[in-house]
Amino acid sequence: MQASFNKTKIVATLGPSSHSLEKVRALALAGVDVFRLNSSHGTVSDHEQAMAFIRQVALEEDMVLAILLDLQGPKIRLGNFDGVKLVKVGDELDLTVSSEESHALFVDYKGLIHDVAVGDPIMINDGRIRLRVQKVLGDIVHTIVEAGGELTARKGINLPGADVAVEAMTPKDREYVAWGVKQDVDFIALSFVRKSEDILGLKQLLQELGRLIPVIAKIEKPQAIDHLDEIIDAADGVMVARGDLGVEMNPEQVPIIQKSIIQKANIAQKPVIVATQMLESMIHEPVATRAEVADVANAILDGTDAIMLSAETASGDFPVEAVTMMSRIASEVEASKLYASQYLFLSQDHSPDLNIQMTRLLDPLPIKAVIAMTQTGRTAEKLSKAKVRHPIIALCPQLHMVRRLSLLWGVYPLLYEGPLEISEASLRKVFEHVMAHSFLKAGDQVMMVTGLPYFTLGKTTSFRLCSI
Ligand code: PEP
Repeated sequence: MQASFNKTKIVATLGPSSHSLEKVRALALAGVDVFRLNSSHGTVSDHEQAMAFIRQVALEEDMVLAILLDLQGPKIRLGNFDGVKLVKVGDELDLTVSSEESHALFVDYKGLIHDVAVGDPIMINDGRIRLRVQKVLGDIVHTIVEAGGELTARKGINLPGADVAVEAMTPKDREYVAWGVKQDVDFIALSFVRKSEDILGLKQLLQELGRLIPVIAKIEKPQAIDHLDEIIDAADGVMVARGDLGVEMNPEQVPIIQKSIIQKANIAQKPVIVATQMLESMIHEPVATRAEVADVANAILDGTDAIMLSAETASGDFPVEAVTMMSRIASEVEASKLYASQYLFLSQDHSPDLNIQMTRLLDPLPIKAVIAMTQTGRTAEKLSKAKVRHPIIALCPQLHMVRRLSLLWGVYPLLYEGPLEISEASLRKVFEHVMAHSFLKAGDQVMMVTGLPYFTLGKTTSFRLCSI
Protein backbone atom coordinates (compact mmCIF):
# COMPACT_ATOMS: atom_id res chain seq x y z
CA MET A 1 0.00 0.00 0.00
CA GLN A 2 1.21 3.57 -0.73
CA ALA A 3 2.90 4.81 2.47
CA SER A 4 1.70 8.37 2.02
CA PHE A 5 -0.41 10.15 -0.54
CA ASN A 6 0.52 13.23 -2.51
CA LYS A 7 -1.65 14.67 -5.24
CA THR A 8 1.37 15.35 -7.43
CA LYS A 9 2.75 12.16 -8.97
CA ILE A 10 6.41 11.21 -9.21
CA VAL A 11 7.96 9.62 -12.29
CA ALA A 12 11.42 8.10 -11.75
CA THR A 13 13.78 6.83 -14.43
CA LEU A 14 15.45 3.48 -13.81
CA GLY A 15 19.09 2.82 -14.68
CA PRO A 16 22.30 1.38 -13.25
CA SER A 17 21.83 3.13 -9.85
CA SER A 18 18.41 1.62 -9.35
CA HIS A 19 18.72 -1.72 -11.08
CA SER A 20 17.79 -4.15 -8.33
CA LEU A 21 14.62 -5.42 -6.72
CA GLU A 22 15.46 -3.74 -3.42
CA LYS A 23 16.29 -0.36 -5.05
CA VAL A 24 13.00 -0.41 -6.96
CA ARG A 25 11.20 -1.30 -3.74
CA ALA A 26 12.91 1.57 -1.87
CA LEU A 27 12.05 4.04 -4.66
CA ALA A 28 8.41 2.89 -4.72
CA LEU A 29 8.09 3.16 -0.95
CA ALA A 30 9.68 6.64 -1.08
CA GLY A 31 6.85 7.79 -3.37
CA VAL A 32 7.35 6.79 -7.03
CA ASP A 33 4.09 6.30 -8.94
CA VAL A 34 5.43 5.70 -12.44
CA PHE A 35 8.75 4.13 -13.43
CA ARG A 36 10.32 5.32 -16.69
CA LEU A 37 12.35 2.94 -18.83
CA ASN A 38 14.56 4.99 -21.14
CA SER A 39 15.28 3.15 -24.38
CA SER A 40 18.22 5.54 -25.05
CA HIS A 41 20.16 3.58 -22.45
CA GLY A 42 20.49 -0.06 -21.44
CA THR A 43 19.51 -3.19 -23.31
CA VAL A 44 16.16 -4.86 -23.87
CA SER A 45 17.17 -7.45 -21.31
CA ASP A 46 17.97 -4.70 -18.74
CA HIS A 47 14.50 -3.24 -19.30
CA GLU A 48 12.87 -6.65 -19.06
CA GLN A 49 14.56 -7.23 -15.74
CA ALA A 50 13.55 -3.76 -14.51
CA MET A 51 9.93 -4.49 -15.47
CA ALA A 52 10.03 -7.72 -13.52
CA PHE A 53 11.32 -5.83 -10.45
CA ILE A 54 8.52 -3.26 -10.74
CA ARG A 55 5.77 -5.85 -11.15
CA GLN A 56 7.12 -7.89 -8.23
CA VAL A 57 7.31 -4.86 -5.92
CA ALA A 58 3.78 -3.79 -6.90
CA LEU A 59 2.51 -7.25 -5.98
CA GLU A 60 4.47 -7.66 -2.76
CA GLU A 61 3.82 -4.12 -1.47
CA ASP A 62 0.20 -3.90 -2.66
CA MET A 63 1.00 -0.80 -4.73
CA VAL A 64 -0.12 0.49 -8.09
CA LEU A 65 3.02 1.17 -10.12
CA ALA A 66 2.88 2.15 -13.76
CA ILE A 67 5.58 1.82 -16.43
CA LEU A 68 6.39 4.48 -19.01
CA LEU A 69 8.53 3.39 -21.96
CA ASP A 70 10.42 6.41 -23.35
CA LEU A 71 11.46 5.98 -26.98
CA GLN A 72 14.84 7.40 -27.89
CA GLY A 73 13.56 8.95 -31.14
CA PRO A 74 15.81 10.34 -33.83
CA LYS A 75 18.48 11.64 -31.45
CA ILE A 76 21.67 12.52 -33.29
CA ARG A 77 24.80 11.31 -31.51
CA LEU A 78 28.57 11.29 -31.73
CA GLY A 79 30.04 7.94 -32.72
CA ASN A 80 32.16 5.68 -30.57
CA PHE A 81 35.70 6.64 -29.65
CA ASP A 82 37.96 5.82 -26.75
CA GLY A 83 38.55 8.05 -23.75
CA VAL A 84 37.84 11.75 -23.36
CA LYS A 85 38.52 14.47 -25.91
CA LEU A 86 39.02 17.92 -24.43
CA VAL A 87 37.98 20.83 -26.65
CA LYS A 88 38.72 24.50 -25.87
CA VAL A 89 37.22 27.78 -27.03
CA GLY A 90 38.73 28.70 -30.40
CA ASP A 91 39.74 25.12 -31.31
CA GLU A 92 38.86 23.92 -34.79
CA LEU A 93 36.81 20.72 -34.69
CA ASP A 94 35.76 18.65 -37.69
CA LEU A 95 32.71 16.39 -37.73
CA THR A 96 32.15 13.71 -40.35
CA VAL A 97 29.18 11.66 -41.48
CA SER A 98 31.39 9.12 -43.18
CA SER A 99 32.31 6.03 -41.19
CA GLU A 100 35.66 5.81 -42.95
CA GLU A 101 38.75 6.34 -40.81
CA SER A 102 39.20 10.09 -40.43
CA HIS A 103 40.70 12.72 -38.14
CA ALA A 104 37.14 14.07 -37.70
CA LEU A 105 34.58 13.00 -35.08
CA PHE A 106 31.90 10.72 -36.46
CA VAL A 107 28.25 11.85 -36.24
CA ASP A 108 25.59 9.16 -36.77
CA TYR A 109 23.30 11.32 -38.94
CA LYS A 110 24.06 11.48 -42.68
CA GLY A 111 21.77 14.48 -43.18
CA LEU A 112 24.01 16.69 -41.01
CA ILE A 113 25.91 17.98 -44.05
CA HIS A 114 22.65 19.11 -45.71
CA ASP A 115 20.84 20.43 -42.63
CA VAL A 116 23.52 22.81 -41.33
CA ALA A 117 24.76 26.00 -42.99
CA VAL A 118 27.70 28.30 -42.33
CA GLY A 119 27.10 30.20 -39.06
CA ASP A 120 24.74 27.59 -37.52
CA PRO A 121 25.34 26.40 -33.96
CA ILE A 122 25.86 22.69 -33.17
CA MET A 123 25.26 21.77 -29.53
CA ILE A 124 26.73 18.68 -27.89
CA ASN A 125 25.93 17.09 -24.52
CA ASP A 126 22.78 19.09 -23.72
CA GLY A 127 24.39 22.29 -24.99
CA ARG A 128 27.38 22.17 -22.67
CA ILE A 129 29.63 22.23 -25.74
CA ARG A 130 28.80 24.67 -28.54
CA LEU A 131 30.33 24.62 -32.01
CA ARG A 132 29.79 27.09 -34.87
CA VAL A 133 29.80 25.85 -38.48
CA GLN A 134 32.62 27.40 -40.55
CA LYS A 135 32.18 25.45 -43.77
CA VAL A 136 30.76 22.18 -45.12
CA LEU A 137 32.99 20.27 -47.53
CA GLY A 138 31.98 16.83 -48.79
CA ASP A 139 31.30 14.61 -45.78
CA ILE A 140 33.01 16.98 -43.34
CA VAL A 141 31.54 19.86 -41.33
CA HIS A 142 34.30 22.21 -40.18
CA THR A 143 33.47 24.01 -36.93
CA ILE A 144 35.03 26.27 -34.37
CA VAL A 145 34.49 25.66 -30.63
CA GLU A 146 32.56 28.45 -28.87
CA ALA A 147 32.00 26.67 -25.55
CA GLY A 148 34.48 23.96 -24.66
CA GLY A 149 34.59 20.95 -22.41
CA GLU A 150 35.04 17.19 -22.37
CA LEU A 151 33.66 15.06 -25.18
CA THR A 152 32.99 11.36 -24.73
CA ALA A 153 31.52 8.73 -27.04
CA ARG A 154 27.77 8.73 -27.98
CA LYS A 155 27.04 12.20 -26.57
CA GLY A 156 23.81 13.71 -27.93
CA ILE A 157 23.82 16.47 -30.55
CA ASN A 158 21.22 19.20 -31.13
CA LEU A 159 20.95 21.40 -34.21
CA PRO A 160 18.84 24.31 -32.93
CA GLY A 161 16.78 25.92 -35.62
CA ALA A 162 17.60 23.34 -38.30
CA ASP A 163 14.62 21.57 -39.81
CA VAL A 164 16.14 18.13 -39.38
CA ALA A 165 14.89 15.72 -42.02
CA VAL A 166 14.48 12.62 -39.86
CA GLU A 167 11.64 10.18 -39.36
CA ALA A 168 9.68 10.57 -36.10
CA MET A 169 10.43 6.93 -35.25
CA THR A 170 13.65 5.08 -35.96
CA PRO A 171 13.76 1.31 -36.64
CA LYS A 172 14.97 0.91 -33.02
CA ASP A 173 11.90 2.84 -31.78
CA ARG A 174 9.60 0.55 -33.76
CA GLU A 175 11.25 -2.50 -32.21
CA TYR A 176 10.81 -1.00 -28.75
CA VAL A 177 7.14 -0.24 -29.44
CA ALA A 178 6.56 -3.89 -30.36
CA TRP A 179 8.44 -4.90 -27.21
CA GLY A 180 6.40 -2.47 -25.09
CA VAL A 181 3.16 -3.89 -26.45
CA LYS A 182 4.31 -7.43 -25.65
CA GLN A 183 5.37 -6.39 -22.15
CA ASP A 184 2.15 -4.45 -21.54
CA VAL A 185 3.77 -1.13 -20.60
CA ASP A 186 1.31 1.55 -19.45
CA PHE A 187 2.51 4.60 -21.43
CA ILE A 188 4.81 5.19 -24.40
CA ALA A 189 6.59 8.55 -24.71
CA LEU A 190 7.58 9.75 -28.17
CA SER A 191 10.70 11.95 -28.34
CA PHE A 192 11.28 14.97 -30.60
CA VAL A 193 7.64 15.28 -31.66
CA ARG A 194 7.28 18.05 -34.25
CA LYS A 195 3.67 17.72 -35.39
CA SER A 196 0.49 15.80 -34.62
CA GLU A 197 1.21 13.35 -37.48
CA ASP A 198 4.18 12.04 -35.44
CA ILE A 199 1.77 11.01 -32.68
CA LEU A 200 -0.75 9.62 -35.14
CA GLY A 201 2.03 7.52 -36.74
CA LEU A 202 2.81 5.91 -33.39
CA LYS A 203 -0.88 5.37 -32.69
CA GLN A 204 -1.26 3.73 -36.10
CA LEU A 205 1.61 1.37 -35.26
CA LEU A 206 0.02 0.56 -31.90
CA GLN A 207 -3.27 -0.13 -33.64
CA GLU A 208 -1.53 -2.53 -36.02
CA LEU A 209 0.06 -4.23 -33.01
CA GLY A 210 -3.37 -4.52 -31.40
CA ARG A 211 -2.91 -2.44 -28.27
CA LEU A 212 -3.72 1.28 -27.94
CA ILE A 213 -1.26 2.19 -25.20
CA PRO A 214 -1.55 5.91 -24.25
CA VAL A 215 1.04 8.07 -26.01
CA ILE A 216 2.86 10.90 -24.22
CA ALA A 217 4.22 13.62 -26.53
CA LYS A 218 7.62 14.90 -25.42
CA ILE A 219 7.72 18.62 -26.15
CA GLU A 220 11.36 19.42 -26.83
CA LYS A 221 11.51 21.05 -30.28
CA PRO A 222 10.55 24.58 -31.37
CA GLN A 223 8.40 23.01 -34.10
CA ALA A 224 6.35 21.28 -31.38
CA ILE A 225 5.71 24.65 -29.73
CA ASP A 226 4.43 25.93 -33.09
CA HIS A 227 1.97 22.98 -33.27
CA LEU A 228 1.25 22.61 -29.56
CA ASP A 229 -2.57 22.59 -29.64
CA GLU A 230 -2.82 19.92 -32.31
CA ILE A 231 -0.11 17.79 -30.63
CA ILE A 232 -1.92 17.95 -27.26
CA ASP A 233 -5.12 17.07 -29.08
CA ALA A 234 -3.56 14.01 -30.78
CA ALA A 235 -1.64 12.75 -27.72
CA ASP A 236 -2.91 11.17 -24.50
CA GLY A 237 -0.54 13.26 -22.39
CA VAL A 238 2.47 15.56 -22.70
CA MET A 239 5.91 15.89 -21.17
CA VAL A 240 7.74 19.20 -20.83
CA ALA A 241 11.13 17.71 -21.79
CA ARG A 242 13.18 20.64 -20.57
CA GLY A 243 16.58 19.06 -21.29
CA ASP A 244 16.40 19.15 -25.06
CA LEU A 245 13.91 22.04 -25.09
CA GLY A 246 16.46 24.26 -23.34
CA VAL A 247 19.04 23.41 -25.98
CA GLU A 248 16.80 23.63 -29.04
CA MET A 249 15.49 26.97 -27.76
CA ASN A 250 16.98 29.52 -25.37
CA PRO A 251 16.87 28.24 -21.77
CA GLU A 252 15.21 31.48 -20.62
CA GLN A 253 12.21 30.64 -22.83
CA VAL A 254 11.58 27.35 -21.02
CA PRO A 255 9.77 28.57 -17.83
CA ILE A 256 7.01 30.38 -19.72
CA ILE A 257 6.69 27.51 -22.21
CA GLN A 258 6.37 25.12 -19.24
CA LYS A 259 3.49 27.16 -17.77
CA SER A 260 1.76 27.40 -21.12
CA ILE A 261 2.03 23.63 -21.81
CA ILE A 262 0.68 22.80 -18.33
CA GLN A 263 -2.24 25.18 -18.74
CA LYS A 264 -3.14 23.87 -22.19
CA ALA A 265 -2.88 20.22 -21.05
CA ASN A 266 -5.13 20.94 -18.06
CA ILE A 267 -7.73 22.60 -20.25
CA ALA A 268 -7.53 19.69 -22.72
CA GLN A 269 -7.88 17.27 -19.75
CA LYS A 270 -4.63 15.44 -20.59
CA PRO A 271 -1.95 14.53 -18.03
CA VAL A 272 1.26 16.56 -18.06
CA ILE A 273 4.73 15.72 -16.72
CA VAL A 274 7.49 18.26 -16.01
CA ALA A 275 10.87 16.66 -16.62
CA THR A 276 14.61 17.08 -16.42
CA GLN A 277 17.14 18.68 -14.09
CA MET A 278 14.53 18.97 -11.34
CA LEU A 279 16.98 17.87 -8.63
CA GLU A 280 20.09 17.68 -10.82
CA SER A 281 22.62 18.35 -8.04
CA MET A 282 21.30 15.28 -6.20
CA ILE A 283 23.05 13.13 -8.82
CA HIS A 284 26.11 13.61 -6.63
CA GLU A 285 24.88 15.34 -3.45
CA PRO A 286 22.49 14.04 -0.78
CA VAL A 287 20.67 17.40 -0.56
CA ALA A 288 19.05 19.59 -3.21
CA THR A 289 19.86 23.23 -3.86
CA ARG A 290 17.28 25.83 -2.82
CA ALA A 291 16.82 26.72 -6.49
CA GLU A 292 15.97 23.10 -7.37
CA VAL A 293 13.49 22.87 -4.51
CA ALA A 294 11.87 26.07 -5.75
CA ASP A 295 11.76 24.70 -9.31
CA VAL A 296 9.91 21.53 -8.20
CA ALA A 297 7.56 23.59 -6.03
CA ASN A 298 6.83 25.98 -8.88
CA ALA A 299 6.02 23.15 -11.31
CA ILE A 300 3.51 21.88 -8.72
CA LEU A 301 2.07 25.38 -8.30
CA ASP A 302 1.79 25.62 -12.10
CA GLY A 303 -0.64 22.68 -11.87
CA THR A 304 1.38 19.79 -13.29
CA ASP A 305 0.15 16.22 -12.78
CA ALA A 306 3.61 14.78 -12.36
CA ILE A 307 7.24 15.68 -11.78
CA MET A 308 10.04 13.54 -13.14
CA LEU A 309 13.53 12.43 -12.14
CA SER A 310 16.03 11.32 -14.79
CA ALA A 311 19.72 10.84 -14.02
CA GLU A 312 18.99 11.48 -10.33
CA THR A 313 17.43 8.00 -10.03
CA ALA A 314 18.97 6.31 -13.11
CA SER A 315 22.65 6.94 -12.55
CA GLY A 316 22.92 9.16 -9.47
CA ASP A 317 24.43 8.42 -6.09
CA PHE A 318 21.27 9.26 -4.11
CA PRO A 319 18.23 7.92 -5.99
CA VAL A 320 16.03 7.24 -2.95
CA GLU A 321 16.93 10.56 -1.32
CA ALA A 322 15.95 12.37 -4.55
CA VAL A 323 12.48 10.75 -4.55
CA THR A 324 12.07 11.47 -0.83
CA MET A 325 12.98 15.12 -1.47
CA MET A 326 10.41 15.41 -4.26
CA SER A 327 7.76 13.81 -2.10
CA ARG A 328 8.54 16.20 0.78
CA ILE A 329 8.32 19.22 -1.52
CA ALA A 330 4.97 18.01 -2.90
CA SER A 331 3.56 17.45 0.63
CA GLU A 332 4.64 20.90 1.75
CA VAL A 333 3.31 22.75 -1.31
CA GLU A 334 0.03 20.81 -1.37
CA ALA A 335 -0.60 21.63 2.31
CA SER A 336 -0.07 25.37 1.77
CA LYS A 337 -2.83 27.99 1.70
CA LEU A 338 -1.32 29.37 -1.50
CA TYR A 339 -1.81 26.04 -3.28
CA ALA A 340 -5.40 25.81 -2.06
CA SER A 341 -6.06 29.29 -3.39
CA GLN A 342 -4.67 28.21 -6.78
CA TYR A 343 -7.46 25.63 -7.21
CA LEU A 344 -10.00 27.93 -8.70
CA PHE A 345 -7.43 29.15 -11.18
CA LEU A 346 -6.11 25.67 -11.97
CA SER A 347 -9.54 24.16 -12.41
CA GLN A 348 -10.59 26.70 -15.05
CA ASP A 349 -13.39 27.84 -12.78
CA HIS A 350 -14.37 30.31 -15.44
CA SER A 351 -15.34 27.31 -17.60
CA PRO A 352 -19.06 26.94 -18.31
CA ASP A 353 -18.51 23.14 -18.21
CA LEU A 354 -21.17 21.66 -15.94
CA ASN A 355 -18.80 18.88 -14.80
CA ILE A 356 -16.38 21.40 -13.43
CA GLN A 357 -19.06 23.54 -11.83
CA MET A 358 -20.59 20.48 -10.13
CA THR A 359 -17.31 19.19 -8.76
CA ARG A 360 -16.65 22.60 -7.16
CA LEU A 361 -19.55 21.74 -4.85
CA LEU A 362 -17.47 18.91 -3.38
CA ASP A 363 -14.62 21.18 -2.25
CA PRO A 364 -16.09 22.70 0.93
CA LEU A 365 -17.38 19.35 2.24
CA PRO A 366 -15.57 18.00 5.32
CA ILE A 367 -14.81 14.63 3.69
CA LYS A 368 -11.62 12.53 3.63
CA ALA A 369 -11.94 11.48 -0.03
CA VAL A 370 -14.08 11.29 -3.11
CA ILE A 371 -14.51 7.65 -4.09
CA ALA A 372 -15.00 7.38 -7.85
CA MET A 373 -16.41 4.04 -8.96
CA THR A 374 -15.39 3.92 -12.59
CA GLN A 375 -15.50 1.23 -15.30
CA THR A 376 -13.45 3.16 -17.84
CA GLY A 377 -11.42 5.50 -15.59
CA ARG A 378 -13.09 8.52 -17.20
CA THR A 379 -14.86 9.69 -14.03
CA ALA A 380 -11.54 9.75 -12.16
CA GLU A 381 -9.86 11.59 -15.04
CA LYS A 382 -12.59 14.25 -15.02
CA LEU A 383 -12.45 14.71 -11.25
CA SER A 384 -8.65 14.98 -11.46
CA LYS A 385 -8.71 17.63 -14.17
CA ALA A 386 -11.40 19.55 -12.28
CA LYS A 387 -8.78 19.64 -9.47
CA VAL A 388 -11.21 18.41 -6.85
CA ARG A 389 -9.71 19.37 -3.50
CA HIS A 390 -10.07 15.95 -1.85
CA PRO A 391 -8.07 12.81 -2.74
CA ILE A 392 -9.86 10.89 -5.50
CA ILE A 393 -9.87 7.18 -4.71
CA ALA A 394 -10.60 5.54 -8.07
CA LEU A 395 -12.03 2.03 -7.93
CA CYS A 396 -11.74 0.41 -11.31
CA PRO A 397 -12.01 -3.23 -12.43
CA GLN A 398 -9.42 -3.01 -15.24
CA LEU A 399 -5.81 -3.36 -14.11
CA HIS A 400 -4.32 -1.57 -17.12
CA MET A 401 -6.63 1.42 -16.48
CA VAL A 402 -5.84 1.39 -12.75
CA ARG A 403 -2.15 1.68 -13.59
CA ARG A 404 -2.76 4.52 -16.07
CA LEU A 405 -4.66 6.47 -13.42
CA SER A 406 -1.54 6.51 -11.26
CA LEU A 407 -0.12 9.36 -13.43
CA LEU A 408 -3.10 11.61 -12.71
CA TRP A 409 -3.01 14.43 -10.21
CA GLY A 410 -4.98 13.70 -7.05
CA VAL A 411 -5.94 10.13 -7.97
CA TYR A 412 -5.30 7.14 -5.69
CA PRO A 413 -6.10 4.22 -8.00
CA LEU A 414 -7.30 0.86 -6.70
CA LEU A 415 -8.15 -2.33 -8.52
CA TYR A 416 -11.65 -3.40 -7.48
CA GLU A 417 -13.47 -6.21 -9.19
CA GLY A 418 -16.68 -6.11 -7.10
CA PRO A 419 -19.93 -4.45 -8.21
CA LEU A 420 -19.60 -0.70 -8.85
CA GLU A 421 -23.00 0.39 -7.59
CA ILE A 422 -24.46 2.29 -4.68
CA SER A 423 -26.47 -0.41 -2.88
CA GLU A 424 -26.11 -1.26 0.82
CA ALA A 425 -24.51 -4.66 0.16
CA SER A 426 -22.11 -3.32 -2.47
CA LEU A 427 -21.08 -0.34 -0.40
CA ARG A 428 -20.06 -2.53 2.54
CA LYS A 429 -17.70 -4.45 0.22
CA VAL A 430 -16.34 -1.21 -1.25
CA PHE A 431 -15.67 0.21 2.21
CA GLU A 432 -13.88 -2.95 3.34
CA HIS A 433 -11.75 -2.80 0.21
CA VAL A 434 -10.76 0.87 0.57
CA MET A 435 -9.98 0.43 4.28
CA ALA A 436 -7.72 -2.52 3.49
CA HIS A 437 -5.92 -0.82 0.57
CA SER A 438 -5.84 2.92 1.25
CA PHE A 439 -5.44 5.51 3.99
CA LEU A 440 -9.19 5.55 4.82
CA LYS A 441 -10.38 4.31 8.22
CA ALA A 442 -13.71 3.32 9.77
CA GLY A 443 -15.81 6.40 10.49
CA ASP A 444 -14.28 8.56 7.72
CA GLN A 445 -16.75 10.61 5.69
CA VAL A 446 -16.52 10.17 1.92
CA MET A 447 -18.43 11.20 -1.20
CA MET A 448 -19.23 8.29 -3.51
CA VAL A 449 -19.44 9.18 -7.21
CA THR A 450 -20.71 6.81 -9.88
CA GLY A 451 -22.13 7.32 -13.31
CA LEU A 452 -20.61 6.55 -16.64
CA PRO A 453 -19.68 8.31 -18.68
CA TYR A 454 -19.32 11.10 -16.20
CA PHE A 455 -22.14 13.65 -16.57
CA THR A 456 -23.01 12.68 -20.11
CA LEU A 457 -26.45 13.82 -21.12
CA GLY A 458 -28.94 11.00 -20.72
CA LYS A 459 -26.79 9.06 -18.24
CA THR A 460 -27.19 9.23 -14.49
CA THR A 461 -24.41 10.34 -12.23
CA SER A 462 -25.00 9.80 -8.55
CA PHE A 463 -23.31 11.35 -5.57
CA ARG A 464 -23.79 9.90 -2.11
CA LEU A 465 -22.33 11.15 1.13
CA CYS A 466 -21.34 8.18 3.31
CA SER A 467 -19.65 7.39 6.53
CA ILE A 468 -17.38 4.36 6.21
C1 PEP B 1 14.48 15.85 -21.99
O1 PEP B 1 15.15 16.17 -22.99
O2 PEP B 1 14.19 16.68 -21.12
C2 PEP B 1 13.99 14.48 -21.86
C3 PEP B 1 13.15 14.13 -20.91
O3 PEP B 1 14.39 13.57 -22.79
P1 PEP B 1 15.63 12.57 -22.66
O4 PEP B 1 15.86 12.36 -21.19
O5 PEP B 1 15.18 11.35 -23.37
O6 PEP B 1 16.73 13.28 -23.33
